[in-house]
Amino acid sequence: MDTSILSMNREARPYYLAVANEEQVFKAAFRQGLSILLKGPTGCGKTRFVQAMAHDLGRPLITVACHDDLTTADLVGRFLLHGGETRWVDGPLTRAVREGAICYLDEVVEARQDTTVVLHPLADHRRQLPLERLGETLDAAPGFCLVVSFNPGYQSVLKDLKDSTRQRMVAIEFGFPSAEIEEKIVASEAGIGIEQAAKLVRLGQAIRRLGSGGLREVASTRVLIAAGRLMLEGLAPAEAARTAIAGPLTDDAEVAGGLIKMIEVYLGGEAAAH
Ligand code: ADP
Repeated sequence: MDTSILSMNREARPYYLAVANEEQVFKAAFRQGLSILLKGPTGCGKTRFVQAMAHDLGRPLITVACHDDLTTADLVGRFLLHGGETRWVDGPLTRAVREGAICYLDEVVEARQDTTVVLHPLADHRRQLPLERLGETLDAAPGFCLVVSFNPGYQSVLKDLKDSTRQRMVAIEFGFPSAEIEEKIVASEAGIGIEQAAKLVRLGQAIRRLGSGGLREVASTRVLIAAGRLMLEGLAPAEAARTAIAGPLTDDAEVAGGLIKMIEVYLGGEAAAH
């Protein structure tokens, strides 16, 4: 898939292949005005899924990548100086509430704890956003939907989502797709043949079976696609996998050595040349 063509053609649905009944569940929650928690490892399709759902539901999508410096003001808005006078400027969350957009807070636990508090009245039945600095409370426009993502494997105990936040949401669990589906995704996204994609997927599944054996995160669909893209450029499969899979997954020489052996087994011996 070519992302640039998609962004030029606003009508095209972002390519998303359903893995289970996640589309049905998302749309049901949306219609009921419920907030949605997408749980799952990095690179398993959560962001792409939200893009496809926003398209299907005909709602604008406002995405915020959360980080530990993100303040409530970054989300809600602040007064800024404009030619000698101060003017209120809406933050992305406030814009979404006013426009009835889907607001996607990616990796929400990365945000500071105080920022999640502002989400509570929005996330539950009240659907309200208090703008303390303006002394007003906004009712969310119809179509507004709060979606947050969370990677349970990756978070430390300190960075768990508060129970009070979790219980205001319905959770959709994301895992990696079945081999058959993942092969189609990798082939389509990387532009390679299905046999090549199938080999990468078998390698990915073998790495996933290692579980936490020295790896913080297992091989995601995203890294398999990246390896496929390098193969499309003519790199030998093992070289592509070493660069796009083993390198990003670990800095530990021993663990990397183990991954490279697996790559040789699943993709051929080219990696041994290095
Ligand atoms: P996450 O948000 O979970 O980190 P992304 O949505 O960015 O992951 O997915 C990473 C990449 O994997 C996407 O850019 C897309 O190319 C691909 N992908 C993963 N799952 C799917 C799927 N079910 N359908 C289509 N593409 C997918």
